[in-house]
Amino acid sequence: MSGTHDGAAVVSARGARRWLGGHPWIFKSDVVRAPQGPAGAVRATDPNGRPLGVALWSPTSEISLRFVSTRPDVALDDAWWRARIGAAIARRAGILDARTNACRLVHGEGDGLPSLVVDRFDRWLVVQLLSAGLETFRAPIVAALADLTGAEGILARNDVSVRGREGLSRDVETLAGAVPETVEVLEHGVRYLAAPHSGQKTGAFLDQREARALVGAVARGRALDLFSYHGSFALHLAARAEQVRAVDSSAAALARAAENAALNGRTNIECVEADAFDFLRDEERAGARYETVVLDPPAFAKNRASIAGALRGYRDINRRAMRLLAPGGFLYTASCSYHVGKDAFLAMLADAAAESGRRMILRAITGQPADHPEVLTIPETGYLKGALLEAGE
Ligand code: SAH
Repeated sequence: MSGTHDGAAVVSARGARRWLGGHPWIFKSDVVRAPQGPAGAVRATDPNGRPLGVALWSPTSEISLRFVSTRPDVALDDAWWRARIGAAIARRAGILDARTNACRLVHGEGDGLPSLVVDRFDRWLVVQLLSAGLETFRAPIVAALADLTGAEGILARNDVSVRGREGLSRDVETLAGAVPETVEVLEHGVRYLAAPHSGQKTGAFLDQREARALVGAVARGRALDLFSYHGSFALHLAARAEQVRAVDSSAAALARAAENAALNGRTNIECVEADAFDFLRDEERAGARYETVVLDPPAFAKNRASIAGALRGYRDINRRAMRLLAPGGFLYTASCSYHVGKDAFLAMLADAAAESGRRMILRAITGQPADHPEVLTIPETGYLKGALLEAGE
């Protein structure tokens, strides 16, 4: 289960430079000699035989190797996994406190644990093992997590498409103890039910926790939560706004939003099942006005080829949302498309503002919370960006 197997990989000079420059991925085209043997941990060298360290090897993936250490002699034994996972958990000290009981414990490459995601929801964990190389270490990973967190149950949400590209099965499986259908999450004074087995991602979108508090603090009047999912922004808006409309195309998500509103004793949240694009267009035509608007769409750019189309989509909804704002109103807008970078996002917002005919003041630029660490040399660890905008008079 542990250690490296024989038959070291040889990585091209370009691949070696990439790793030495701080990026752990080696693509298939940069593997000069593939490791002998099945998925697992392998040693790798550059073309001159200089040791580069130890990597996770995925035989069928486009990302063949994911480096985990520069030390060629390191053994990925139980103690190694425990130490690396322990360091990730220690990095979250101070996040799990009286204000929240849910956070991401392991953010893959951001924590030096490529292709591993672990989210904590109160006393339970949800994990994703997203590469063939990592999958071979499932047992020590689960043992370390159970031991370090004392979790009552660990669920694998391995039902994601990237597993297919790794030649792995796609399933949802309990790995330890038992995990309930819903877990009550406390988040800055708001409570909502996460759904580890069936919800989107690992059951809730933890990456917007701080943004929800930010916009919640300035919310007032008539408020709109577009792409609301189970209403987590709406719940924060409802504490200060008079009336909140949560809009989503998923009836199941809105049913949970209504349940969450009741859980918080909120009677000022109205759930609207609609396509957000159509909803915005209709509201704009009707001349509607809102004091607070949240736009948190799914990733429109799934790959490089779809960036231009995605930017048009973002510009369209942002322009319309800006036009709906009452003078002095706030718009919190986000993009979780990795392929749309921070600069492109802000440029898109500037275009949308120009087209909207409104003067939009940039009050805050937001990124990922500390439990989703972004590494400067690994751009893929950063995907979420947002802006809090205020409409001028
Ligand atoms: N704001 C949420 C997360 C949103 S995830 C939170 O903080 O928890 C994106 C949501 O957009 C999903 O719930 C999905 O059902 C919804 N969605 C996707 N396409 C949509 C569309 N065209 N119109 C309305 N909702 C859409």
